[in-house]
Amino acid sequence: MSRVYLTGAGPGDIELLTMKAHRVITEADIIIYDRLANPEILDMAKDGCEFLYVGKEDGRHTLPQDEINEIIYQNALKYKVIVRLKGGDPFVFGRGGEEGAYLHQHGINYEIIPGITSAISVPAYAGIPVTHRGIAVSFRVVTGHESPHKKESQIPWKNFKTDDTIIFLMGLHNLHKISTKLIEIGKPSDYPCAVISKGTTKEQKVVIGTLTDIVQKASDIQTPALIVVGKVVLLRDQLQWFENRL
Ligand code: SAH
Repeated sequence: MSRVYLTGAGPGDIELLTMKAHRVITEADIIIYDRLANPEILDMAKDGCEFLYVGKEDGRHTLPQDEINEIIYQNALKYKVIVRLKGGDPFVFGRGGEEGAYLHQHGINYEIIPGITSAISVPAYAGIPVTHRGIAVSFRVVTGHESPHKKESQIPWKNFKTDDTIIFLMGLHNLHKISTKLIEIGKPSDYPCAVISKGTTKEQKVVIGTLTDIVQKASDIQTPALIVVGKVVLLRDQLQWFENRL
């Protein structure tokens, strides 16, 4: 009987892989992967393991999702241990739910191996806690892929008036639209904002600004990058640790 593991690869730092993910990666007959934050993970595979890239970049899919679903299914008919490896967590904007449902419909055994999501760990490596007593009592993880000016936006922009932390994934190319929209709904123009690129890796870059100047400050930033909006951003002054390690 074959089994598909929908597996989170974590945000980039190879040591943020779970032990369970590590085990199935070493057992895999085939690893079907996206553009990963850390391709070194593939070096952990056993000799003879096959690799298949079905990459997605910033939410723009090189392969349509139904084709990816079908590829996973076809490989489940061929191999015993199939690892479907995804950046971060498979259920946080990872479309793992669709892949699991497809496998279920086709009678294939599968397991979900959660991963450390970039949404929380990347801010953490930048010294930004997503909640903090007296500053933010909750956080939201929002897709930044959808233009805020889209007519039937599914994003509840009006709810973003509070001081809860907002983390936008896949939003770098919409940074201008997102910051403008947040000012439009009533956030102060000097409201704190951060852009973090390649978080948890040696190439991590952190840009701190406000809703007004962040676009200009982050103009050289590369993907993958996420955006943190909220007063917790200012805690980096005290909590910056990653760049300060000895
Ligand atoms: N399932 C993933 C998210 C997939 S969406 C997770 O749980 O992390 C892809 C988006 O995640 C990117 O556009 C970027 O916004 C964010 N991202 C992933 N890895 C990142 C990293 N190392 N640094 C900054 N952002 C990252």
